[in-house]
Amino acid sequence: MPAERLTRSAKPAPPADQDGQLGLFAAPKRLFSCTPSRLGTYEDCPRRYRYAYVDRPSPRKGPPWAHNSLGSSVHNALKNWYALPGAERAPAVLPKLLRATWVREGYRDEAQEQQAFQRALGWLEAYVAGLDPHVDPVGVERTVAAKTDLLALSGRVDRIDQVGDELVIVDYKTGRSDLTTDDARGSRALALYAYAAERLFRRRCRKVELHHLPTGTVAAAEHTEESLARHLRRAEQTAQDAIDAEAAVAAGADPDEAFPPMPGALCSWCDFRRACPAGASAPEREPWAAIERFSQAESEQ
Ligand code: SF4
Repeated sequence: MPAERLTRSAKPAPPADQDGQLGLFAAPKRLFSCTPSRLGTYEDCPRRYRYAYVDRPSPRKGPPWAHNSLGSSVHNALKNWYALPGAERAPAVLPKLLRATWVREGYRDEAQEQQAFQRALGWLEAYVAGLDPHVDPVGVERTVAAKTDLLALSGRVDRIDQVGDELVIVDYKTGRSDLTTDDARGSRALALYAYAAERLFRRRCRKVELHHLPTGTVAAAEHTEESLARHLRRAEQTAQDAIDAEAAVAAGADPDEAFPPMPGALCSWCDFRRACPAGASAPEREPWAAIERFSQAESEQ
């Protein structure tokens, strides 16, 4: 399913030879290398994209977030669960797996960290109870890649399952909010992973799932050829905008204008808030603020 070709209007056409034909040995087009996360950063806020991917040295980031530590810990424990032989995948190994991969950064104090550990362990125990320990996924933390006319896409998928003759993209989520079918269908990352996995494994891959560990729920969606093409078109449009902004700066444009800020609710959670004048008025969040919300929600139940 080819993605729609985008015109690179900002770039001059390659020179023709004397017959008016393009040279046989014209240099191949340089593709824009990106991950879904990179494209998502540009869509959320071009200024943040500039700080993260263009400015060198990059502005100093704020302190690490406890919710990111929690997410990484859980993801790594699940990765190591699948690294065990099927016969050893039992709930009793989970405390050891989680302890081995636990990331300590960002918590307010040891008591909060301990509480988060117990909460994560509870999520994992409930989650693996629904898994068949003897079924190996097609991929775990698997890097997939694909090319379009403009993009060299790559990314790491939490898990790729095989169901019947088809592949299913699985993404673990550890945030507080429940997720819906619309979240799964609208996820650019999941769609691009499905596109890439189908090409890599030469097996149909249209189903994408968000596995929300805090609630044990799964939000699933089935892509069509058209919906994947739509995601690819939007990814290419975003990439083209980023290419144009970088080209404008290289040609002398003001970087602050080429990469405008998009201040909003995300500013409070932005790693570059302290470096960004547009985000300065956003309320500052403590690194453990998202973790504290879990505790609040639990105490209200
Ligand atoms: S603080 Fe807000 S406006 Fe500034 S880079 Fe971050 S998200 Fe963008």
